[in-house]
Amino acid sequence: MSKKFYITTSIPYTNAPPHIGFALEAVQADVLARYHKSLGEEVFFLTGTDEHGIKTLRVARELGKEPKEYADEISEKFRNLTKVLNISNSDFIRTTDELRHKPAVQKLWEKLDASGDIYKKKYKGYYCPGCEAFKTEKEMIDGKCVIHLKELELVEEENYFFKLSKYTEQIEKIIKSGKLKIIPEGKKNETLAMLKQGMDDVSFSRTKDKYWGFEVPGDSEQVMYVWCDALPNYISAIGYDQEAKQFKKLWPADVHCIGKDIMKFHTIFWPAMLLSAKLELPKSVFVHGFINVDGQKMSKSLGNVIDPFELVAKYGVDAVRYYLLREIVSTEDGDFTFEKFEQRYNSDLAGGIGNLVARTLGISSKIEFKESKPSKKITEAIKGAKQNYKKSLEEFKFNEALASVWEIIGFCDKYINEEKLWQTQNQQVISDLFFAIKEIGILLQPFLPEIAEKILQQLANKQSVPLFPRIEK
Ligand SMILES: [Zn+2]
Repeated sequence: MSKKFYITTSIPYTNAPPHIGFALEAVQADVLARYHKSLGEEVFFLTGTDEHGIKTLRVARELGKEPKEYADEISEKFRNLTKVLNISNSDFIRTTDELRHKPAVQKLWEKLDASGDIYKKKYKGYYCPGCEAFKTEKEMIDGKCVIHLKELELVEEENYFFKLSKYTEQIEKIIKSGKLKIIPEGKKNETLAMLKQGMDDVSFSRTKDKYWGFEVPGDSEQVMYVWCDALPNYISAIGYDQEAKQFKKLWPADVHCIGKDIMKFHTIFWPAMLLSAKLELPKSVFVHGFINVDGQKMSKSLGNVIDPFELVAKYGVDAVRYYLLREIVSTEDGDFTFEKFEQRYNSDLAGGIGNLVARTLGISSKIEFKESKPSKKITEAIKGAKQNYKKSLEEFKFNEALASVWEIIGFCDKYINEEKLWQTQNQQVISDLFFAIKEIGILLQPFLPEIAEKILQQLANKQSVPLFPRIEK
């Protein structure tokens, strides 16, 4: 039986349509899914939407809609985005799913309760609807959330609490031992610092009159807190409630891909819930940064939100995938500007891979040409780049993996020029280039699946059609 590989994205809130930030995460996860599939592994790739948030409820009310009606609309947009971005997800889970999700989260709640980790308490605290979390003194400035810079809301309720504090030492040990890997190292250290300070128990329910969600088992007045409801999507989608064969086979997840703003929930809350329920922990959590636009945080009020649908319609899916994977350092914040986008497009895509394929096929079409065994010169050049590519992917460094493919492209361009191939039409050199371009096509499959297919087809037909028409100013 082949090895399994279970990978997830986070599930975005349904309070607003998708922006380029989630596109980045979906594309990153897709590269890993496609890469592991190419290694012969049995890949299961999950994405979906997180719908029981207070923000979804509020936006829906403002629009005069029922929350579920509004969540349906927005969830559909995220589902479309996976298609438009050519994401190879195996499944799409919604947290309003009554058949798959609800029984799983309720079962999980009962497990936490059975472990003695759920208790009721009167509580007063400052809540950020943006984060869907209570904030400590350190997490606020002038009564505002440090992330959202919005006024916090004073909430006073009687809720069920989860004994998060009970598990902090155990989680610290597991992370230190590397059994739960956090990538990059800096984010692992941030998590360890939080654990060292200790964690308070966390409110895991809300009163039903003001919030939206599934009922707490055995208490019809309380609904589950959105994070308590959202995190279990990773097990509900694969049949946790029935301990299905699929669940036994796929759990624990190999990789959770997430943004840095929700790290604490994935590296502390979720592991604690799993420990309490006596389930295995995910093997790794990969944390990416944010995308700024022209150096500024993307926000509705600034009017600089980049719509991934428009971008794909204008430049094509693989040009968008390329920019997100190449320009953005995978574990850091990156910047989006149309200027940089078009620069990358013209230099790397039109001028790089596009030009190499067109040039090579152009020259080969002028002669009777038969492929022969590749020379040592080309196989050596490819071997080194392939090693870097593999290592980079294992370290989630997508930008570096692509850079090593572009090293091969650069090598080929140089080879053509040094050999003055347009004059000599040297059979061995042309054959070497065919060999290299085929390798490039294969290496690009996880990153630019459509273009990779076109490259391989054009090689087979020995006929070139422009891959990336140059953008003219
Ligand atoms: Zn916030």
